[in-house]
Amino acid sequence: MSTCKRCGAEFACGMTDLYGDEPCWCTQIPALPRSAYVGPDTGEGNPSCFCPQCLRTLVATQQKSATDGQ
Ligand SMILES: [Zn+2]
Repeated sequence: MSTCKRCGAEFACGMTDLYGDEPCWCTQIPALPRSAYVGPDTGEGNPSCFCPQCLRTLVATQQKSATDGQ
């Protein structure tokens, strides 16, 4: 199991917790820039996956901020 750095939830990630032939659920979600994985919310160093709920939230936030900047 992996632990979400944002909310502490435990989840399985195909990158670290091998599913066998199953692709990781995170392949269904657009990738975040690396900068999203470090910072006040997540701490420095050791970038790691977020749980499905947080990853969707972060992707939505990234997309919103990108749209607002135009
Ligand atoms: Zn989370």
